[in-house]
Amino acid sequence: MVKFLASSFTVLLLTIAAVKAQINPALYPKINEVPPVTSPEVVAWLKEIDLTGAPTIELHVGAPPACPNPPIANECYWTCDGCAADDITACAAPNTWGLTFDDGPSTATPTLLDYLKTNKLSASFFVIGSNAIQYPDTLKREVTEGHHLASHTWSHHALTTLTNEQIVAEMKWTEKAVLEATGLRLKYMRPPYGDINNRVRFVLKKLGYIPVDWTGDAFDTNDWRIPTMTEAQVIDTFSKSLDTYVASDKAKGFYCLEHDVSSLTVNVALKLLPLGITRKINFASVAGCESDAQPYQAGSTAPMPTLSAGTSAGQPTATKGGATPSASATGVAGNGTVNGPTIVDPKNKSGASSIAVSGVFAAAAAAAVALILA
Ligand SMILES: [Zn+2]
Repeated sequence: MVKFLASSFTVLLLTIAAVKAQINPALYPKINEVPPVTSPEVVAWLKEIDLTGAPTIELHVGAPPACPNPPIANECYWTCDGCAADDITACAAPNTWGLTFDDGPSTATPTLLDYLKTNKLSASFFVIGSNAIQYPDTLKREVTEGHHLASHTWSHHALTTLTNEQIVAEMKWTEKAVLEATGLRLKYMRPPYGDINNRVRFVLKKLGYIPVDWTGDAFDTNDWRIPTMTEAQVIDTFSKSLDTYVASDKAKGFYCLEHDVSSLTVNVALKLLPLGITRKINFASVAGCESDAQPYQAGSTAPMPTLSAGTSAGQPTATKGGATPSASATGVAGNGTVNGPTIVDPKNKSGASSIAVSGVFAAAAAAAVALILA
């Protein structure tokens, strides 16, 4: 009898584990388009925040927009003048590669996840909401395997070209999609193309988001230039950037720009990451870099993942089962202040970290079992 119950229990768990995340796209805006601001959902979200006092900076034009000439005073436009305000632009942990991937999830993402799992590395995935509703199971897998999720907007439009209300719609629809898929409410974001100024920052702050840029041109892997730029050129260029970094004091780590948007970018990632491992650079997600034990916003319906301590290259970074976050630091507290780049990523941008999951889905499965058995 006990054996029968144990067997049935195992089958039940396997069945629950096999249940795919379901998101009904009909309940979301059109993919890859700026969501309308007149929908009941967006109207309700706009009522929750006060946008009065937002800087009155004119909207830019273009995809991505050209730099204004002459520059707009007090705009603090990162992609054009390197002004980062209080954006995070460097990994706070020394000698650490802040591992971030933008523009997913995609059909190429599982290959990257396999590699990260094999090498015991954790990353932050800056996901696009339009992709999130198409691949919710990939989001679940990312969380389950100790990665950190962050926002890269709904439709990947340059935010300085959008109204304040459109920015709210872009962020909140993405937040809703990831919350529905994983139970986690996003806290960090990366602006598409690194396109951010003080008006965008104002709106993001109202929504509780922390912008994460990348650590300047040298840490743009240029993976998005492939095949215009050959894979060999990308690897050679980035290898030299790593050599320069290794020769520095390495007091702070760096955030790279990488993408899990296609097999082209994922395949080159599998060749770039070993360059860091052989140089004995540690790896961490944004949560790991910033020692953030609460890497998601309040309102998450799943337990907060536990931040792991170890981020050494090739070493385990995921500690499972902890209910109470412990922010044992791998690095220095506080945000980076390194100046940003002066170029614009024509398609993508991203970031990564080392958090572990406190059995989010295991807990959900257990709850489901309890419900079924009751
Ligand atoms: Zn992007």
